[in-house]
Amino acid sequence: MARERLYLFDTTLRDGAQTNGVDFTLNDKLAIASLLDDLGIDYVEGGYPGANPTDTALFGKSRKLDTTFTAFGMTRRPGRSASNDPGLAALLEAKADAICFVAKSWDYHVRVALETTLEENLASIRDSVRAARKKGREVLLDCEHFFDGYKANPDFALACAKAAYEEGARWVVLCDTNGGTLPHEVEAIVTEVCKLIPGDHVGIHAHNDTEQAVANSLAAVRAGARQIQGTLNGLGERCGNANLVSIIPTLKLKPEFSKRFEIGVTDAKLKELVHVSRRLDEMLNRAPNRHAPYVGESAFATKAGIHASAIMKEPKTYEHVAPETIGNHRRLMVSDQAGRSNVLAELDRIGLKVDRNDPRIATLLDVVKEREALGYAYEAADASFDLLARRTLGKVPNYFDVVQFDVNVEQRYNAIGERVTVSMAVVKVKVGDETLMSAGEGNGPVHALDVALRKDLGKYQRYIKGLELTDYRVRILDGGTEAITRVLIESRDETGERWTTVGVSPNIIDASFQALMDSIVYKLVKAKAPA
Ligand SMILES: [Zn+2]
Repeated sequence: MARERLYLFDTTLRDGAQTNGVDFTLNDKLAIASLLDDLGIDYVEGGYPGANPTDTALFGKSRKLDTTFTAFGMTRRPGRSASNDPGLAALLEAKADAICFVAKSWDYHVRVALETTLEENLASIRDSVRAARKKGREVLLDCEHFFDGYKANPDFALACAKAAYEEGARWVVLCDTNGGTLPHEVEAIVTEVCKLIPGDHVGIHAHNDTEQAVANSLAAVRAGARQIQGTLNGLGERCGNANLVSIIPTLKLKPEFSKRFEIGVTDAKLKELVHVSRRLDEMLNRAPNRHAPYVGESAFATKAGIHASAIMKEPKTYEHVAPETIGNHRRLMVSDQAGRSNVLAELDRIGLKVDRNDPRIATLLDVVKEREALGYAYEAADASFDLLARRTLGKVPNYFDVVQFDVNVEQRYNAIGERVTVSMAVVKVKVGDETLMSAGEGNGPVHALDVALRKDLGKYQRYIKGLELTDYRVRILDGGTEAITRVLIESRDETGERWTTVGVSPNIIDASFQALMDSIVYKLVKAKAPA
């Protein structure tokens, strides 16, 4: 049986740009658009031309993309004609393949927010859709607050949707704008809409305020809708939009959907999903969510020893889909609960070849347990585990020695009389026969130490050039005067790979120093720097 086509509409660049702390530049937008295009997304909503300079520039020239590049904007304002509305004119002039209008479909909003009549709202929808059709654009209508509107006045909400459809809009999109609708309500209401408008002209736009934007999108598809709108990594204001990074693998890998529907994302592109998700995080300078479904670092991680041995034998016993299908990998975490099989699997993954009966594996397991009792956390610090394993198995070169370091913190008045705190660090390093001294300044002692340490490593300097610290977390493990500090440092290099290292000490500088050293040595091992 031929499968039905489901269309994906991405609004990362428009609704996703509303996220707190997110500010896309023109270059970011172009890069993300081509990332989405390459992934096989049918529609990419670029932004709101006329509303800000970035979006106006984005729609000022044509792009070479296969996706239907879509401009977003309002229907004509009440009381104006379509030809006498500057906002609408800017939208019609935008270099876009499609135009997505947003219009009110809740009678309460029409009266209170727009202060106009229900009839005028319908006329505005009809006029705007007609004007865009005349310009040769594909048209979509986002029905704002559709579900709340339907509950308050179903006839009016449906009349808004029908007005757009009858005027030739390709899609009528039902928006759960405040994200409060639940899946069973979405399914019931979309079923009613699809009695009036064919489902292959109906879309769903869900927000995540009850954490059901993905479930609501799937419920709408079950009820007949054939376009899903969402964002990468669920970006969006408040609690975000429906997360396409979760929806895509569900549609591709869960038989209820994969047998009935096909989407523009191929199996080969699905394998790049982890990469796409991380690319966006990198652009936004955000740490990836380790617990993200399908693509998170922990999505296929298992801790307990008995599970690990079963997974090694038959992965299907514990995994709902195969991690490789989305470009993720199985991870058996090493921790004090770890059994032999976790350790063996982890050694396998980091590419350390050891005989399964090597007595040093038992030694490694003992060392991990001992150190975890002291406060080290190896399941969070993959790179420190990697080094510990290599050291226990005798395989890490002694690249350099830190002979001495000195860190000071000074509080003083600056030239304009403000109180400032600055830190200075001096590090003495021995690389081969060479002794090197470097000083560094930073906004805190750890920062200064990091700057000094990475300033000059002699012949190893070129290997660590792309190294960058991306996250620094401190935890105090015991209360009172005996407090132990655990520091976790996340690093990244020019290839985009990230790793975490750990240090533990009663002294925060010392704990940070251990984690910094592990990060640098790990990078040298990874880069196969000669000893
Ligand atoms: Zn929205």
